[in-house]
Amino acid sequence: MNQRSHQFRFYPTAAQAKTLGQCFGAARWVWNTALAWRSAAYKIDGERVTGVDFSRELTWLKTLEPYAWLRDVPATVFAQTLRDQDRAFANFFAKRARYPRFKKRRAAASIRYQIDQRSVMNVYRAGELLKLPGLGALDIRWSRVPGGAPKMVTVRVDACGRWFVSFMVEEHIEPLPASTSGVGVDLGVNDIVVTSDGRKSGNPRHLKRYRRRLKLAQRRLSRKRKGSNRWRKQVKRVARIHARVADTRSDHQHKLTTGLIREHGVIALEDLNVRGMTASAKGTAEAPGKKVAQKAGLNRSILDAGFGEIRRQLEYKAQFYGRTIVLADRFAPTSKTCSECGAYQADMPLKVRVWTCPDCGAVNDRDSNAARNILAMAAGGRPVDVHGGRRTPSATTNSGCGMLAPVEMRTNPECVGASHGR
Ligand SMILES: [Zn+2]
Repeated sequence: MNQRSHQFRFYPTAAQAKTLGQCFGAARWVWNTALAWRSAAYKIDGERVTGVDFSRELTWLKTLEPYAWLRDVPATVFAQTLRDQDRAFANFFAKRARYPRFKKRRAAASIRYQIDQRSVMNVYRAGELLKLPGLGALDIRWSRVPGGAPKMVTVRVDACGRWFVSFMVEEHIEPLPASTSGVGVDLGVNDIVVTSDGRKSGNPRHLKRYRRRLKLAQRRLSRKRKGSNRWRKQVKRVARIHARVADTRSDHQHKLTTGLIREHGVIALEDLNVRGMTASAKGTAEAPGKKVAQKAGLNRSILDAGFGEIRRQLEYKAQFYGRTIVLADRFAPTSKTCSECGAYQADMPLKVRVWTCPDCGAVNDRDSNAARNILAMAAGGRPVDVHGGRRTPSATTNSGCGMLAPVEMRTNPECVGASHGR
């Protein structure tokens, strides 16, 4: 069984939209009040209080007339809000995150509902029905039928007013037929993905057009008086373009990753540490950061996020469909090494797209040459154990589920047969 997440658009009735708006507001109030209370308890009394402590206070508050409106919101919404805050504090104490912050009123918001598993059959039928406490049935556009029932449902509205439900279900996913094909993947700017067999994905063309429109819309926004009606309208317009850009990019990424997973048993990626890349962008430049900085230019942050997302998709899809992801050393000079003879070219300006190797005469396309090196290196790289945790290459053997193990690639790189197809 796999954990698979689903997201569907839905269209609330006017009454549902109003109720949800109240729930968002109440959840935000609970978050902020609990946060203030916890901060005060800690600063003044040196005490650590938790969400459970606050929910006791909340039960008491609900009995008071000025807080009667708290009774209109399903208890599960507050319980989840407080649980989220507990997690935010846990992350803070573990030094993984900054101190939790107050939530401001924003156009985009979300809340979560726990679904009582004893009565789930009354409120959920996959592809047909989802009823939430206080809202009733939602008018959901089921773009596919989930293979299980959710334990938790998130309802959110984005900045341009579109509504979504999302949830995870335990689902059986049929693995794809085993494939012995291996491919190296280089992530870049002009082409989001270039593979070792010389295929280039391109970059969705409309993104450029949207980017221009976005710039224009933002310039118009900056000329309007903040808080005015025209300003508010323009904010919505900007949000809509943002959403369209995000959707287009996401579509394209999913198509790319699904295609790679379908065709190949083993996919080798450069181990670009996404967090490291952002750090190096701020000036603590190391070799990989420098490479990425060169690659990315102006839209670096967008690109960083894109790389991380493509890798995330490849990893979970590999898990779904029984594929193997292998990471190659990110410090290796993949674009400056000839994939034919292994000679290193110290002087290789970024603008050089195609080069002839002075040592062996091979004509190398910059990107697919890098992808071929990544595939070759992946033989000695770290395989990502998509079934949980990380394995070292030496511990990796063919696990018997039809996957081509990286160890075999190392002993016989020829058998993956994707790197010499020029
Ligand atoms: Zn060469």
